Amino acid sequence: MIPESVFSPQTRDWKSCLGESFRRVADLLDYCNIELADEMQGRSPDFPLRVTRHYADLIEKGNASDPLLLQVLPLAAEMQQVAGYQQDAVGDLQAMPVAGLVHKYHGRVLLPLTGACAIHCRYCFRRHFPYRDAMTNGALPEAMMQYLARHQELREVILSGGDPLMLSDEKLSGLIQSLNQHPHIRLLRIHSRLLSVLPQRITDGLLDVLEAFDGQLVFVTHINHPNEIEPLNQAALRKIHQHGHQLLNQTVLLRQVNDQANTLASLSYKLFHSHILPYYLHTLDKVQGSAHFAISTGKTCRLYKELQSQLPGYLLPRLVSDIPGKLAKTPMHCG
Ligand code: SF4
Repeated sequence: MIPESVFSPQTRDWKSCLGESFRRVADLLDYCNIELADEMQGRSPDFPLRVTRHYADLIEKGNASDPLLLQVLPLAAEMQQVAGYQQDAVGDLQAMPVAGLVHKYHGRVLLPLTGACAIHCRYCFRRHFPYRDAMTNGALPEAMMQYLARHQELREVILSGGDPLMLSDEKLSGLIQSLNQHPHIRLLRIHSRLLSVLPQRITDGLLDVLEAFDGQLVFVTHINHPNEIEPLNQAALRKIHQHGHQLLNQTVLLRQVNDQANTLASLSYKLFHSHILPYYLHTLDKVQGSAHFAISTGKTCRLYKELQSQLPGYLLPRLVSDIPGKLAKTPMHCG
């Protein structure tokens, strides 16, 4: 066993690790020892390739069908216009009473703080989101503060993005101070892919900043495949757990990535061994450019029933869809 100290996420500065990310398809393919014909590659200037070295290290070299590679590799299939696939697949824009604040569900609001991410997932439902309206430089703008003050029924703020942990500790600290001015907000949920794809981000300094929040913290990881969990990010996740915070995971069901019950069962066990509860299994949001990841309803239900037969109830994620206009995530009933 490799001693944890060797794999301490804090041995390297997260910003320099981020700076080593892959930005060019050719560089990533070279690194992974994979050849891909030009006509198979997608050109997506608004949403280019971005992959951390940590994530790239987990891709099986020489395997063009690797499930981690397929999540981040821009393909020509993205360029196809498919009926029913939209820019705002989950209705965020209709639910923004104040620029940069999404209020869809009772008791909670979501702040898509930044468009920046450490990796660009090709199925991302916010790949077309107008982040210019959403960005915060730390302290919340007056209009958001007034909205939070007016809505005393709110209990929870969800930090999202992009990836909220791409913000510096200083900006996050300003944000926490703003939230602490609203004593009715007792829960702060942080949705972040960095927790698994850039574990160096989980530092004592970051946890100090977040723990200044006057309430409970909940971390939501976004892990789609068991190969995404390995010793380095397990150490980072363990640190969060040891600080006493709840960890949940959401997974998106993706064709050729995780559309096998055995894969999802293995993911659930691996999450649990990393102190994370499998929370949601999302069907694909119908965002333009993602149709090649879609799975039919029939196959989804067959897969979920098989998964149900393999897992104890506490490891079975809830199968849900995000349907615009609904008051909560919609459970998919498979009969
Ligand atoms: S990390 Fe999240 S917000 Fe960023 S591209 Fe991936 S799914 Fe989208």
